[in-house]
Amino acid sequence: MPRHLRFPRRSFLGLLFLFSLSTSALYFIYSAPGIVNEYLFMVQARGVQIRENVRSIGVQVLEQVVRGAYSNGTDYTYDFNLSEPHFQTTTYLPDGFTYHPDQKCPEKLPSMKGPVDVNMSEVTLLEVEKTLLEADRSLGQGGHWKPQDCQPRWKVAILVPFRNRHEHLPILLRHLIPVLQRQRLQFAFYVIEQAGNEPFNRAMLFNVGFREAMKDMDWDCMIFHDVDHILENDRNYYGCGKMPRHFAVKLNKYSYTLPYNEFFGGVSGLTVQQFRRINGFPNAFWGWGGEDDDLWNRVQFAGYSVSRPPGDIGRYMSIPHHHRGEVQFLGRYRLLRRSKERQDVDGLNNLNYAPRVTRNPLYTNITVHLTRELAPVADY
Ligand code: UDP
Ligand code: BGC
Ligand code: MN
Repeated sequence: MPRHLRFPRRSFLGLLFLFSLSTSALYFIYSAPGIVNEYLFMVQARGVQIRENVRSIGVQVLEQVVRGAYSNGTDYTYDFNLSEPHFQTTTYLPDGFTYHPDQKCPEKLPSMKGPVDVNMSEVTLLEVEKTLLEADRSLGQGGHWKPQDCQPRWKVAILVPFRNRHEHLPILLRHLIPVLQRQRLQFAFYVIEQAGNEPFNRAMLFNVGFREAMKDMDWDCMIFHDVDHILENDRNYYGCGKMPRHFAVKLNKYSYTLPYNEFFGGVSGLTVQQFRRINGFPNAFWGWGGEDDDLWNRVQFAGYSVSRPPGDIGRYMSIPHHHRGEVQFLGRYRLLRRSKERQDVDGLNNLNYAPRVTRNPLYTNITVHLTRELAPVADY
Protein backbone atom coordinates (compact mmCIF):
# COMPACT_ATOMS: atom_id res chain seq x y z
CA MET A 1 0.00 0.00 0.00
CA PRO A 2 1.37 3.44 -0.87
CA ARG A 3 2.85 5.19 2.12
CA HIS A 4 0.46 8.16 2.05
CA LEU A 5 -2.57 5.87 2.48
CA ARG A 6 -1.36 4.23 5.68
CA PHE A 7 -1.72 7.21 7.96
CA PRO A 8 -5.41 7.94 7.26
CA ARG A 9 -6.23 4.30 7.96
CA ARG A 10 -4.58 4.49 11.36
CA SER A 11 -6.39 7.71 12.20
CA PHE A 12 -9.62 6.09 11.04
CA LEU A 13 -9.05 3.31 13.58
CA GLY A 14 -8.32 5.93 16.21
CA LEU A 15 -11.53 7.72 15.39
CA LEU A 16 -13.44 4.45 15.50
CA PHE A 17 -11.97 3.76 18.92
CA LEU A 18 -12.91 7.21 20.24
CA PHE A 19 -16.37 6.87 18.77
CA SER A 20 -17.02 3.51 20.47
CA LEU A 21 -15.63 4.86 23.74
CA SER A 22 -17.93 7.87 23.70
CA THR A 23 -21.00 5.87 22.63
CA SER A 24 -20.51 3.40 25.47
CA ALA A 25 -20.05 6.31 27.89
CA LEU A 26 -23.28 7.83 26.54
CA TYR A 27 -25.04 4.49 26.85
CA PHE A 28 -24.15 4.30 30.52
CA ILE A 29 -25.16 7.87 31.23
CA TYR A 30 -28.51 7.77 29.45
CA SER A 31 -29.66 4.16 29.54
CA ALA A 32 -28.22 2.77 32.73
CA PRO A 33 -28.10 5.65 35.20
CA GLY A 34 -28.71 3.28 38.10
CA ILE A 35 -25.51 1.39 37.29
CA VAL A 36 -23.48 4.61 37.12
CA ASN A 37 -24.88 5.71 40.47
CA GLU A 38 -24.23 2.35 42.06
CA TYR A 39 -20.64 2.51 40.88
CA LEU A 40 -20.10 6.08 42.11
CA PHE A 41 -21.60 5.34 45.53
CA MET A 42 -19.56 2.14 45.78
CA VAL A 43 -16.36 4.12 45.15
CA GLN A 44 -17.52 6.67 47.72
CA ALA A 45 -18.30 3.94 50.28
CA ARG A 46 -14.84 2.39 49.71
CA GLY A 47 -13.34 5.83 50.37
CA VAL A 48 -15.26 6.11 53.63
CA GLN A 49 -14.14 2.61 54.63
CA ILE A 50 -10.50 3.42 53.95
CA ARG A 51 -10.76 6.67 55.94
CA GLU A 52 -12.34 4.77 58.84
CA ASN A 53 -9.61 2.13 58.77
CA VAL A 54 -6.93 4.82 58.82
CA ARG A 55 -8.72 6.51 61.71
CA SER A 56 -9.02 3.32 63.75
CA ILE A 57 -5.32 2.55 63.16
CA GLY A 58 -4.60 6.09 64.37
CA VAL A 59 -6.72 5.50 67.48
CA GLN A 60 -4.87 2.25 68.20
CA VAL A 61 -1.49 3.96 67.87
CA LEU A 62 -2.68 6.76 70.16
CA GLU A 63 -3.93 4.19 72.64
CA GLN A 64 -0.51 2.51 72.73
CA VAL A 65 1.30 5.83 73.14
CA VAL A 66 -0.99 6.97 75.99
CA ARG A 67 -0.82 3.56 77.69
CA GLY A 68 2.98 3.67 77.41
CA ALA A 69 3.13 7.14 78.94
CA TYR A 70 0.89 6.16 81.86
CA SER A 71 2.12 2.64 82.48
CA ASN A 72 2.75 3.28 86.17
CA GLY A 73 -0.61 1.80 87.16
CA THR A 74 -2.59 5.01 87.62
CA ASP A 75 -6.31 4.97 86.83
CA TYR A 76 -5.97 7.48 84.02
CA THR A 77 -8.96 7.16 81.70
CA TYR A 78 -9.00 8.22 78.12
CA ASP A 79 -11.97 7.97 75.79
CA PHE A 80 -10.74 5.96 72.82
CA ASN A 81 -14.17 5.58 71.38
CA LEU A 82 -14.18 8.21 68.66
CA SER A 83 -16.81 6.45 66.57
CA GLU A 84 -20.44 7.60 66.29
CA PRO A 85 -22.56 7.12 69.38
CA HIS A 86 -24.23 3.71 69.42
CA PHE A 87 -27.95 3.55 69.55
CA GLN A 88 -29.46 2.17 72.69
CA THR A 89 -30.72 -1.34 72.29
CA THR A 90 -34.48 -1.12 72.54
CA THR A 91 -36.56 -3.56 74.50
CA TYR A 92 -39.03 -5.75 72.69
CA LEU A 93 -41.87 -7.49 74.48
CA PRO A 94 -41.12 -11.02 75.67
CA ASP A 95 -42.32 -14.19 73.95
CA GLY A 96 -45.71 -15.34 75.17
CA PHE A 97 -46.94 -11.77 75.67
CA THR A 98 -50.72 -11.76 75.36
CA TYR A 99 -52.53 -9.05 73.49
CA HIS A 100 -55.86 -7.56 74.30
CA PRO A 101 -58.28 -7.40 71.37
CA ASP A 102 -59.54 -3.98 72.49
CA GLN A 103 -56.13 -2.43 72.94
CA LYS A 104 -53.68 -0.87 70.49
CA CYS A 105 -51.10 -3.32 69.18
CA PRO A 106 -47.67 -2.56 70.62
CA GLU A 107 -44.89 -1.31 68.35
CA LYS A 108 -42.19 -3.62 69.65
CA LEU A 109 -43.74 -7.03 69.40
CA PRO A 110 -42.15 -10.32 70.43
CA SER A 111 -42.85 -11.62 66.90
CA MET A 112 -40.35 -9.10 65.52
CA LYS A 113 -37.12 -11.04 65.86
CA GLY A 114 -34.81 -8.92 63.74
CA PRO A 115 -32.97 -10.38 60.71
CA VAL A 116 -35.16 -11.68 57.88
CA ASP A 117 -34.11 -14.61 55.68
CA VAL A 118 -33.91 -13.08 52.24
CA ASN A 119 -34.61 -15.39 49.33
CA MET A 120 -34.14 -13.81 45.91
CA SER A 121 -35.00 -16.90 43.88
CA GLU A 122 -37.78 -16.38 41.37
CA VAL A 123 -41.22 -17.61 42.26
CA THR A 124 -44.65 -17.30 40.65
CA LEU A 125 -47.37 -15.08 42.06
CA LEU A 126 -49.60 -18.15 42.31
CA GLU A 127 -47.11 -19.96 44.53
CA VAL A 128 -46.80 -16.94 46.82
CA GLU A 129 -50.59 -16.57 47.02
CA LYS A 130 -50.95 -20.23 47.93
CA THR A 131 -48.31 -20.17 50.66
CA LEU A 132 -49.51 -16.93 52.24
CA LEU A 133 -53.19 -17.87 52.17
CA GLU A 134 -52.45 -21.26 53.67
CA ALA A 135 -50.50 -19.57 56.47
CA ASP A 136 -53.31 -17.11 57.21
CA ARG A 137 -56.82 -17.50 55.81
CA SER A 138 -57.78 -14.00 56.90
CA LEU A 139 -55.62 -12.44 54.18
CA GLY A 140 -58.26 -10.80 51.96
CA GLN A 141 -58.57 -9.54 48.36
CA GLY A 142 -56.03 -6.89 47.42
CA GLY A 143 -53.67 -8.22 50.10
CA HIS A 144 -55.82 -6.65 52.78
CA TRP A 145 -55.12 -7.86 56.32
CA LYS A 146 -55.70 -6.71 59.84
CA PRO A 147 -54.74 -8.19 63.18
CA GLN A 148 -57.38 -10.01 65.19
CA ASP A 149 -55.71 -10.03 68.59
CA CYS A 150 -55.24 -6.24 69.01
CA GLN A 151 -56.20 -2.94 67.39
CA PRO A 152 -53.76 -1.96 64.62
CA ARG A 153 -51.71 1.12 65.45
CA TRP A 154 -51.62 2.17 61.78
CA LYS A 155 -53.71 1.55 58.69
CA VAL A 156 -51.06 1.35 56.03
CA ALA A 157 -51.39 1.43 52.24
CA ILE A 158 -48.28 0.06 50.55
CA LEU A 159 -47.88 1.73 47.15
CA VAL A 160 -45.62 0.12 44.56
CA PRO A 161 -44.77 1.90 41.27
CA PHE A 162 -44.54 -0.59 38.48
CA ARG A 163 -43.75 -1.29 34.84
CA ASN A 164 -42.42 -4.51 33.41
CA ARG A 165 -40.87 -5.96 36.58
CA HIS A 166 -43.12 -8.98 36.83
CA GLU A 167 -40.50 -11.24 38.39
CA HIS A 168 -39.95 -8.77 41.24
CA LEU A 169 -43.46 -8.43 42.62
CA PRO A 170 -43.90 -11.99 43.98
CA ILE A 171 -40.48 -11.78 45.66
CA LEU A 172 -41.46 -8.52 47.37
CA LEU A 173 -44.85 -9.85 48.55
CA ARG A 174 -43.33 -13.10 49.78
CA HIS A 175 -41.07 -11.17 52.16
CA LEU A 176 -43.14 -8.16 53.11
CA ILE A 177 -46.57 -9.64 53.89
CA PRO A 178 -45.37 -11.94 56.72
CA VAL A 179 -43.33 -9.07 58.18
CA LEU A 180 -46.31 -6.68 58.21
CA GLN A 181 -48.39 -9.39 59.88
CA ARG A 182 -45.72 -9.84 62.55
CA GLN A 183 -45.78 -6.05 63.02
CA ARG A 184 -49.56 -6.23 63.58
CA LEU A 185 -50.34 -3.46 61.12
CA GLN A 186 -53.49 -3.22 59.06
CA PHE A 187 -52.41 -3.07 55.41
CA ALA A 188 -53.14 -3.60 51.72
CA PHE A 189 -51.00 -3.43 48.59
CA TYR A 190 -51.52 -1.14 45.60
CA VAL A 191 -49.45 -1.72 42.48
CA ILE A 192 -49.63 1.30 40.19
CA GLU A 193 -48.68 0.30 36.71
CA GLN A 194 -47.66 2.81 34.07
CA ALA A 195 -49.06 2.25 30.58
CA GLY A 196 -48.03 4.13 27.42
CA ASN A 197 -44.63 4.97 26.03
CA GLU A 198 -43.57 7.98 28.08
CA PRO A 199 -40.50 7.61 30.30
CA PHE A 200 -41.28 6.07 33.68
CA ASN A 201 -42.76 8.51 36.20
CA ARG A 202 -42.39 6.99 39.65
CA ALA A 203 -43.62 10.10 41.47
CA MET A 204 -46.82 10.57 39.49
CA LEU A 205 -47.64 6.89 39.98
CA PHE A 206 -47.40 7.42 43.74
CA ASN A 207 -49.80 10.38 43.51
CA VAL A 208 -52.27 8.23 41.55
CA GLY A 209 -51.83 5.38 44.05
CA PHE A 210 -52.52 7.71 46.95
CA ARG A 211 -55.74 9.03 45.39
CA GLU A 212 -57.00 5.55 44.51
CA ALA A 213 -56.09 3.96 47.84
CA MET A 214 -57.97 6.70 49.71
CA LYS A 215 -61.11 5.83 47.75
CA ASP A 216 -60.93 2.32 49.30
CA MET A 217 -60.73 3.25 52.94
CA ASP A 218 -59.39 5.84 55.36
CA TRP A 219 -55.75 4.80 55.44
CA ASP A 220 -53.66 6.88 57.79
CA CYS A 221 -50.17 5.97 56.59
CA MET A 222 -48.71 5.68 53.08
CA ILE A 223 -45.60 3.65 52.32
CA PHE A 224 -43.91 4.44 49.00
CA HIS A 225 -42.12 1.23 48.10
CA ASP A 226 -39.85 0.28 45.19
CA VAL A 227 -40.70 -3.18 43.91
CA ASP A 228 -37.09 -4.36 44.06
CA HIS A 229 -36.33 -3.46 47.71
CA ILE A 230 -36.40 -6.34 50.19
CA LEU A 231 -36.10 -5.43 53.85
CA GLU A 232 -33.62 -7.42 55.87
CA ASN A 233 -34.94 -6.71 59.35
CA ASP A 234 -38.50 -7.13 60.61
CA ARG A 235 -37.95 -4.49 63.30
CA ASN A 236 -38.07 -1.92 60.52
CA TYR A 237 -41.57 -0.93 61.58
CA TYR A 238 -43.76 0.20 58.67
CA GLY A 239 -45.92 2.56 60.69
CA CYS A 240 -45.75 6.33 60.25
CA GLY A 241 -44.83 8.95 62.82
CA LYS A 242 -44.73 12.61 63.75
CA MET A 243 -42.21 13.12 60.97
CA PRO A 244 -41.94 11.66 57.46
CA ARG A 245 -39.82 8.55 57.56
CA HIS A 246 -37.10 7.15 55.35
CA PHE A 247 -36.90 3.37 55.73
CA ALA A 248 -34.34 2.28 53.13
CA VAL A 249 -31.26 3.66 54.82
CA LYS A 250 -28.64 1.00 54.10
CA LEU A 251 -28.75 -0.65 50.69
CA ASN A 252 -26.52 -3.52 49.64
CA LYS A 253 -26.03 -1.80 46.27
CA TYR A 254 -24.51 1.21 48.07
CA SER A 255 -22.34 -0.98 50.31
CA TYR A 256 -24.83 -0.47 53.17
CA THR A 257 -24.05 3.20 53.59
CA LEU A 258 -26.39 6.13 53.13
CA PRO A 259 -25.23 7.58 49.80
CA TYR A 260 -25.90 11.18 50.96
CA ASN A 261 -27.72 12.79 53.86
CA GLU A 262 -30.66 13.98 51.76
CA PHE A 263 -31.24 10.54 50.19
CA PHE A 264 -34.97 9.76 50.38
CA GLY A 265 -35.32 6.97 47.80
CA GLY A 266 -36.27 3.31 47.83
CA VAL A 267 -38.81 3.14 50.65
CA SER A 268 -40.32 6.15 52.44
CA GLY A 269 -43.49 6.80 54.40
CA LEU A 270 -45.72 9.75 55.29
CA THR A 271 -49.01 10.06 57.12
CA VAL A 272 -51.93 11.01 54.91
CA GLN A 273 -51.95 14.39 56.58
CA GLN A 274 -48.23 14.98 55.96
CA PHE A 275 -48.56 13.85 52.33
CA ARG A 276 -51.48 16.21 51.68
CA ARG A 277 -49.68 19.06 53.35
CA ILE A 278 -46.67 18.79 51.01
CA ASN A 279 -48.97 18.48 47.96
CA GLY A 280 -47.75 14.92 47.30
CA PHE A 281 -44.95 14.05 44.90
CA PRO A 282 -44.04 16.27 41.93
CA ASN A 283 -45.51 15.11 38.60
CA ALA A 284 -42.83 16.70 36.45
CA PHE A 285 -40.05 14.09 36.76
CA TRP A 286 -40.12 11.87 33.66
CA GLY A 287 -37.40 9.20 33.63
CA TRP A 288 -34.93 8.06 36.24
CA GLY A 289 -33.82 10.26 39.12
CA GLY A 290 -34.60 13.35 41.14
CA GLU A 291 -38.22 12.83 42.22
CA ASP A 292 -37.16 11.49 45.62
CA ASP A 293 -34.84 14.49 46.09
CA ASP A 294 -37.75 16.80 45.30
CA LEU A 295 -39.89 15.00 47.90
CA TRP A 296 -37.10 15.55 50.43
CA ASN A 297 -37.16 19.27 49.59
CA ARG A 298 -40.95 19.43 49.96
CA VAL A 299 -40.75 17.81 53.36
CA GLN A 300 -38.12 20.34 54.50
CA PHE A 301 -40.05 23.33 53.12
CA ALA A 302 -43.11 22.18 55.06
CA GLY A 303 -41.03 22.35 58.24
CA TYR A 304 -40.69 18.60 58.80
CA SER A 305 -37.53 16.67 59.44
CA VAL A 306 -37.00 13.07 58.33
CA SER A 307 -36.71 10.20 60.78
CA ARG A 308 -34.83 6.99 60.06
CA PRO A 309 -34.53 3.58 61.71
CA PRO A 310 -31.37 3.25 63.80
CA GLY A 311 -28.37 1.01 63.27
CA ASP A 312 -28.80 -1.96 61.00
CA ILE A 313 -32.58 -1.99 61.13
CA GLY A 314 -32.83 -0.07 57.85
CA ARG A 315 -30.92 -2.61 55.77
CA TYR A 316 -32.28 -3.64 52.35
CA MET A 317 -31.22 -5.84 49.50
CA SER A 318 -32.26 -4.92 46.00
CA ILE A 319 -33.33 -7.63 43.61
CA PRO A 320 -30.78 -7.74 40.79
CA HIS A 321 -32.36 -5.93 37.85
CA HIS A 322 -33.37 -7.75 34.75
CA HIS A 323 -34.15 -4.64 32.75
CA ARG A 324 -32.20 -1.43 32.74
CA GLY A 325 -33.94 0.40 29.97
CA GLU A 326 -35.02 3.55 31.79
CA VAL A 327 -33.71 6.85 30.54
CA GLN A 328 -32.12 9.23 32.96
CA PHE A 329 -34.01 12.48 33.55
CA LEU A 330 -31.33 15.06 32.87
CA GLY A 331 -33.66 18.00 33.52
CA ARG A 332 -33.89 17.09 37.19
CA TYR A 333 -31.20 19.48 38.35
CA ARG A 334 -33.01 22.41 36.79
CA LEU A 335 -36.31 21.38 38.38
CA LEU A 336 -34.70 20.74 41.76
CA ARG A 337 -33.44 24.30 41.90
CA ARG A 338 -37.06 25.47 42.03
CA SER A 339 -38.61 22.80 44.24
CA LYS A 340 -40.09 25.42 46.51
CA GLU A 341 -41.92 27.37 43.80
CA ARG A 342 -43.22 24.18 42.18
CA GLN A 343 -44.44 22.64 45.42
CA ASP A 344 -47.73 24.57 45.38
CA VAL A 345 -48.52 24.11 41.71
CA ASP A 346 -47.38 20.60 40.85
CA GLY A 347 -48.49 17.56 42.84
CA LEU A 348 -51.80 16.28 44.13
CA ASN A 349 -53.53 19.50 43.09
CA ASN A 350 -52.87 19.42 39.31
CA LEU A 351 -53.28 15.67 38.81
CA ASN A 352 -55.73 14.15 36.31
CA TYR A 353 -55.91 10.54 35.22
CA ALA A 354 -58.24 7.73 34.21
CA PRO A 355 -57.35 4.51 36.05
CA ARG A 356 -58.23 0.88 35.34
CA VAL A 357 -58.58 -0.85 38.69
CA THR A 358 -58.54 -4.62 39.15
CA ARG A 359 -58.43 -6.64 42.36
CA ASN A 360 -56.00 -9.49 42.70
CA PRO A 361 -55.66 -11.80 45.70
CA LEU A 362 -52.52 -10.07 47.02
CA TYR A 363 -52.79 -6.54 45.60
CA THR A 364 -54.99 -4.05 43.82
CA ASN A 365 -53.70 -3.20 40.37
CA ILE A 366 -54.15 0.36 39.12
CA THR A 367 -53.13 0.82 35.52
CA VAL A 368 -52.76 4.39 34.24
CA HIS A 369 -51.68 5.69 30.89
CA LEU A 370 -49.49 8.65 31.82
CA THR A 371 -48.93 11.65 29.57
CA ARG A 372 -47.55 15.09 30.29
CA GLU A 373 -50.90 16.80 29.67
CA LEU A 374 -52.37 15.04 32.71
CA ALA A 375 -50.54 17.30 35.14
CA PRO A 376 -50.33 20.73 33.56
CA VAL A 377 -48.27 23.51 35.09
CA ALA A 378 -48.20 26.97 33.57
CA ASP A 379 -44.49 27.58 34.13
CA TYR A 380 -41.74 26.08 36.27
N1 UDP B 1 -39.82 0.85 38.11
C1 UDP B 1 -40.49 -0.12 37.37
N2 UDP B 1 -40.19 -0.25 36.05
C2 UDP B 1 -39.25 0.51 35.44
C3 UDP B 1 -38.58 1.48 36.19
C4 UDP B 1 -38.88 1.61 37.52
O1 UDP B 1 -41.32 -0.86 37.88
O2 UDP B 1 -39.03 0.34 34.23
C5 UDP B 1 -40.19 1.05 39.53
C6 UDP B 1 -39.82 -0.11 40.42
O3 UDP B 1 -40.70 -0.16 41.51
C7 UDP B 1 -38.42 0.27 40.83
C8 UDP B 1 -38.54 1.77 41.05
O4 UDP B 1 -39.49 2.17 40.07
O5 UDP B 1 -38.00 -0.42 41.99
C9 UDP B 1 -37.24 2.54 40.94
O6 UDP B 1 -36.64 2.33 39.69
P1 UDP B 1 -35.21 1.60 39.50
O7 UDP B 1 -35.22 0.32 40.28
O8 UDP B 1 -34.93 1.47 38.03
O9 UDP B 1 -34.22 2.66 40.16
P2 UDP B 1 -32.78 2.39 40.83
O10 UDP B 1 -32.99 1.33 41.87
O11 UDP B 1 -31.89 1.91 39.74
O12 UDP B 1 -32.41 3.70 41.41
C1 BGC C 1 -30.93 10.74 42.16
C2 BGC C 1 -31.95 10.06 43.03
C3 BGC C 1 -31.46 8.67 43.38
C4 BGC C 1 -30.11 8.75 44.03
C5 BGC C 1 -29.54 7.40 44.40
C6 BGC C 1 -29.59 10.74 42.84
O1 BGC C 1 -28.63 11.30 42.00
O2 BGC C 1 -31.34 12.07 41.89
O3 BGC C 1 -33.20 10.00 42.37
O4 BGC C 1 -32.36 8.03 44.28
O5 BGC C 1 -29.20 9.41 43.16
O6 BGC C 1 -29.42 6.55 43.31
MN1 MN D 1 -34.07 -0.37 41.96
